[in-house]
Amino acid sequence: MTRPITLSETMRAALSKDPGAHKYGHGHALVLSGGPGQGGAARLAARAALRVGAGLVTLVAPPAAMAEHAAQLTAIMLRPLPDSYALRGLLRDDRISALCLGPGLGIQRAADMVPAALWGARPTVLDADALTAFAEDPERIFSQIHQDVVLTPHPGEFSRLFPDIAEAALGETPRLSLQAATQTAAERAGCVVLLKGPRTHIATPDGQSAYHDATGDMAAPWLATAGSGDVLAGLITGLMARGMAPFEAACTATWLHAATARSFGPGLIAEDLPEHLPRLLREIG
Ligand code: AMP
Ligand code: MG
Repeated sequence: MTRPITLSETMRAALSKDPGAHKYGHGHALVLSGGPGQGGAARLAARAALRVGAGLVTLVAPPAAMAEHAAQLTAIMLRPLPDSYALRGLLRDDRISALCLGPGLGIQRAADMVPAALWGARPTVLDADALTAFAEDPERIFSQIHQDVVLTPHPGEFSRLFPDIAEAALGETPRLSLQAATQTAAERAGCVVLLKGPRTHIATPDGQSAYHDATGDMAAPWLATAGSGDVLAGLITGLMARGMAPFEAACTATWLHAATARSFGPGLIAEDLPEHLPRLLREIG
């Protein structure tokens, strides 16, 4: 049985911070960026990971994109990362507690970086280009995915990775509910799948599922704006960096994303979401 996501006491407790902890006690998230001119999406994800409470966030970028990022970042750390060989080296640091790959990563860089990131066996969000890069041979990535991975496709990305499931659920005569489609995809991929849309569905391979319906009383259609999915990917990454399990992180991030959006209205842009988070977290804490 699927259930609507509500703010539980467990979620509330997980969002509060241990007063005695050092910043490393709140985790270190890595967000991978693509080349020059493509970095905005990764910066949004990194900002969201930091705002949701990761102790440290590092944006890792191709050397050619360093100057552009350096001009935009303050609290987010920046590190050059030429290739996947360097990523494997970086992942020897066991304080790195979660990864985000996809927003603004570029298809070619994603194809190189995703296998190395999965090799590192950290909680990992794969979104956007990190999903599209494997559209021609999804099994290649499913065979490397581990249970601490969260895939966050929108319907187009979902259709590229799971064409047969998408056809059954999103085709002209649907034979499968979106919830069942998400569940089947999670079983096939072997990890948490979060299918985005006005109604977001989340499922695990072992049959847990939840949804958030942003229609009716809960409508926030202004969330359908450039970059809002990148913020969601960053929120999940930040929560996993803090130690939240993948399914709980996906549910909590979806709730926070929607609740933040509802306190705005038309005119919301993706940048507003992370910046409003401290106020929301104080209200619910
Ligand atoms: P992306 O397509 O990756 O930018 O992600 C878009 C985000 O906006 C996801 O979190 C969706 O669930 C959300 N979203 C898309 N359409 C709507 C809608 N009509 N109402 C509320 N949220 C939406
Ligand atoms: Mg997106």
